[in-house]
Amino acid sequence: MTSGRILVVEDNPRNLKLVRDVLQFSGYEVVEASTGEDSVRLADETLPDLILMDLQLPGIDGVEALRRIRARHGECHLPSVPVVAVTAFAMDQDRQRVYSSGFDGYVEKPINVRGLLQQVSDLLRRKES
Ligand code: MN
Repeated sequence: MTSGRILVVEDNPRNLKLVRDVLQFSGYEVVEASTGEDSVRLADETLPDLILMDLQLPGIDGVEALRRIRARHGECHLPSVPVVAVTAFAMDQDRQRVYSSGFDGYVEKPINVRGLLQQVSDLLRRKES
């Protein structure tokens, strides 16, 4: 049985619906944001166990949103919450940029559902241990 609260940050409604449906069907609680600014606020308010972050967003992009979420102080776990980048970029240098920006994982669009679920459960399990 899977469990955990996942914040999904995605400005494309079709991608958002796909990811939400897949995660909910697998037993996760889903919180949705469609802008980087909203993701920072909702991370604070809902303290997710994991975040899926689209990189290309209106307003601040996923890299800047990650930076702001990681900068949160206090007694919450947000400075170390696992954050997975979701992006159409496919070049090796883009992958390098994702990891050097502090993301914990990387999912390419178009989204492979099985790969997404595997990565989510791996990161949540790593967090528990
Ligand atoms: Mn986007």
